[in-house]
Formats: sequence, structure tokens, C-alpha cells
Amino acid sequence: MADFKLMRQLAKSDGGKIILLVLDGLGGLPMGEYTETTLEYANTPVMDDLAQEGCLGLSHPIARGITPGSGPAHLALFGYDPVGTPVGRGVLSALGIGFDLKPEDVAARGNFCSVDARGYITDRRAGRIDSDVALPLVEKLDQINIPGVETFVRQVKEYRFMLALRAEGLNGALDDTDPQVTGKPPLPATALEPDAERTAEFVRAWLAEAQRVLQNDHPANMVTLRGFGQDPILPKFHEVYKLNAACVAVYPMYKGVSRLVGMDVLETGSHFTPSDEFKVVAEHWDDYDFFFVHIKPTDSRGEDGDFNAKASVIESVDQALPKLLALKPDVLLITGDHSTPAKLRSHSWHPVPTLLSAPASHLRDSAKRFGEREAQRGGLGHFMAQDLMPLALAHALRLEKYGA
Ligand code: ZN
Repeated sequence: MADFKLMRQLAKSDGGKIILLVLDGLGGLPMGEYTETTLEYANTPVMDDLAQEGCLGLSHPIARGITPGSGPAHLALFGYDPVGTPVGRGVLSALGIGFDLKPEDVAARGNFCSVDARGYITDRRAGRIDSDVALPLVEKLDQINIPGVETFVRQVKEYRFMLALRAEGLNGALDDTDPQVTGKPPLPATALEPDAERTAEFVRAWLAEAQRVLQNDHPANMVTLRGFGQDPILPKFHEVYKLNAACVAVYPMYKGVSRLVGMDVLETGSHFTPSDEFKVVAEHWDDYDFFFVHIKPTDSRGEDGDFNAKASVIESVDQALPKLLALKPDVLLITGDHSTPAKLRSHSWHPVPTLLSAPASHLRDSAKRFGEREAQRGGLGHFMAQDLMPLALAHALRLEKYGA
């Protein structure tokens, strides 16, 4: 990870403004009739100009050959060790919806599911019920009382919710109850270490109550839980980097990971376009030194296997980009958290094309446009995502010299 001891020592509280623009799952591969990657194929005149003026490189999220989830991949972009600081998806969900998670709380992600008369799962997402169908069920679950522990259930979106348990001495080392397949019953809550046994008992008691209160509902008549965990209490951006940082994201998980590292999360709507998100940056430009802007649909369209739709998302970002450039950031980084090639319909291990524009200090390389193959020859070379923050700070002239 970024050397936090060194960062604390060298980071200055004044200097330039930084924008970290993350197009989730940006990297890709050629596919079918397309000989270019999605980013190479997309019509991106603004990014291409920035690539010509600035420099490119390839970012490795976790380690070579490792396909990351978005949570750890973002921690790496923020300079944190993504392997040494495992963060449960439940914690990210809780923080993402703005739940006031306490250090002792254990949080999990919940799904409504459908089970048959024997209790076997027939649909792991309960027919993907809408949020308005799910809300009264969430409210019922929130009424459950288990002696010895406080429980909180909050809606996330559609069939997804968050469960938090609050009591002294809880331990989040629990296995998922989602068997990941249909035709099997949900798994019992199981402790992964002896210290977590009491927490597992609370969860088993809660699940039994959940089954009882949902038994006459259809199609959501049961739940599964996964991603149990507790707040890892990470060092915060203002403390390590001396940055007053803000997050502009639409999806809860990215707001969650931003809160974990001490960013303020700015208000967005669920249907915000890249242009809308950039407008939020402009509105708060004077309030912060650092903006993390997250664009989700690049990843979603990659997972759909839709090469063209992913290219369209990239183009919509490019068209809106002048809004950000008008703010004249001292450092603009455009990258992804990982690659999501439409060809593979999933996240992948391929390094992520990255663009650095820092007019006062970057060394222009030979790149003509923004894309994977150009980035292979770029001036930033191959680098670990965890090194991006020190680079950003340096180019914003926010790091003192090391030693005399
Ligand atoms: Zn991602």
C-alpha cells in the first residue's frame, strides 16, 4: 500500500486540487468483429486530447493475475492495502446507505429469496422484487426482537437489504448463509472462529424469526445473508494525505468505501448521469481538495457482454468531461478500479488504462489517444493502483521533499 507513515510525514495541507475519475471496469479486450478494446473503439475526442497532452500507464489493482471485486479495488486506488484490510460487503452496504455503523456492530448484506414448502431455495433474488414491494418486508424484519442484541434492518435496493447487529463483544467472522445455488436450503449461520459463536447464535435466532415473519409472503418468503463484517477503522484521508475529500457516486457501495476512508459523500440521485455527477463536483468545487467521482455503468455493460453499450457509456463521460475541465483541476486522473471486458462478461485481472493530466508537472509521453495499447507504451508504465495517491499528491505539489 501507499507508505502511510511517509505520507503523514510529507503531505502538506495546501496545494492543488485533484479529481480522481473512476470508470468502473474501464479496461477491456477486443471482441468478435471489433479489433479494438471498448475504450479504443469509443469515440472520445476529449480524453484523446488529454492523453496527447498528458501521460498514460497501466494500473494493477491488487497483484498481477488477480481479478478483484470493486470494494478492494477501490481501497487500492485510495492507497490502502486491499489484501491486508478485508472489508465485508455488509459493512460497505451499511456505510453506503448512510447507516450509522458503530465500531462494535456486525453488518451483513441480505437478499430476499423464495423457498418452496421444504425450505429449498427456488429463486435467490425472490423474482428481483421492486423496492416498493420489499420495503414493507424490510419494515417487518426490522421489528424482530432477539434478546441480548439490538438488530437493525434497512433497505438497500430492490431485493437487497442490510442487517446490522449491535451488542458488546460481537465478532463478524461468520460464513455466508447464501448457498449460491437454487435447490438447496439456506445455510445455517456458522462461526468461522470460536469467538464468533455467540454472534452466530444471535444470527441463527434472527434467521428463525425472519423465516416466521415472512412465511406467508410471496415471492419473498425467506432471506439469505452474506458478507458479514465489522468496520475495519481505517486511517482517514485528511489524516494520512491531509486532503479534504469528497465522493460523488450513485451506487451505495462506493459511497460506503468512501466513507470508510473519511470522505464526505455528496448528494446524488439514483438516475444521475455522468454529466449530473460532474455538476455536483462543480457545485462543491470550492469546498474540497480532492474529488472521487465514480461512474458505474461501464462495469454493468461490460458484465452484460454489451461491447457497444459500454462504448456508449465511455462516450457519454467524454461528452460531459468539459464540465470537469472547466474547473481547471491541477491533477485529473482517469482510470478504472479493474477491467471488465465485455468479451468475458465479468471483472478481470487485466491492468487498467490510466490517464494523468497535470499540466504544471506531467511529462508528456508519445500517446496519441486514450486506450489500452497506447497505455502499454505510456510514461507511467505499469504501476500498482496503490501508488496512484502518492503520484496524485506529488503532481498537485502537496508532498514535501523526503530528507535534506
Ligand atoms: Zn468495479
